[in-house]
Amino acid sequence: MLLKGKVALITGAGRGIGLTTAKRFCEEGATVYVNGRSAEQINKIVLDLQAEGFDARGLVFDVANADEVKDAFRLLIKQTKTLDILVNNAGILDDALIGMVTVEQIKRTFEINTFSTLYTSQYAARLMGRNKSGSIINISSIIGTNGNTGQAVYGGSKAAVIGITKSLAKELALSNIRVNAVAPGFIKTDMAFSIPEDKFKERMDSIAMARIGEPADIANTAVYLASDLSSYVTGQIIGVDGGMLI
Ligand code: NAP
Repeated sequence: MLLKGKVALITGAGRGIGLTTAKRFCEEGATVYVNGRSAEQINKIVLDLQAEGFDARGLVFDVANADEVKDAFRLLIKQTKTLDILVNNAGILDDALIGMVTVEQIKRTFEINTFSTLYTSQYAARLMGRNKSGSIINISSIIGTNGNTGQAVYGGSKAAVIGITKSLAKELALSNIRVNAVAPGFIKTDMAFSIPEDKFKERMDSIAMARIGEPADIANTAVYLASDLSSYVTGQIIGVDGGMLI
């Protein structure tokens, strides 16, 4: 088991990539804090994971709310006094052409996709710094590295995550805290199915491997980045996109 004895927090783990990552981390022996903003949703997931014999715990907070993040980390510190792995996965997609996008859409997207990464990393870095060990994994996007029509806001929010990743990797390296990002291409979750049919086909046609990605494709990369297998890897943006050309 690659993550035995490690404590992990995964944001936005109520469904999609986050949920699959939570399950994979459990299978690898980690104690997993499952985050989401609905207590009902998270309680059910935690009970299901516990029923399978895993050490899963719920941590309900809105990643975009700095006060809620602070309170959640207080609770986590009280319970475990330690954190080894943080996966900043929570995110939203709210596409619009630049002429149509509202100020509210811009603010909400950056609050959830970008500011949250700074809020959580701040507390995680303090905790990990005590042990001189840790791995922070940020879920960016191929849209953040390559851009796309109608995605200036989402792409900007995800490109910023890359800047945060590289900066924190440099800042935290001497504390032996590694910071990397995963840039998924097109992955089979509610988010992928939320885009219009013609755009969905366009995306599928752009994938060299001719299949949509599975949440497990991202979760397995996160396992690698969380584990000691990647002990000399930091500041990297790992594309997991089946050779998507965008
Ligand atoms: P998803 O199925 O829509 O899941 C998103 C998760 O984030 C949900 O659990 C959602 O919770 C949670 N979330 C959203 N806002 C939150 C908030 N304020 N506080 C806490 N949790 C919040 O999407 P996904 O495809 O799994 O996406 C996961 C990550 O991968 C995102 O960062 C996304 O941008 C990135 N990504 C996805 C793709 C793709 O093709 N699917 C490609 C590139 C990058 P609720 O259930 O409460 O809404």
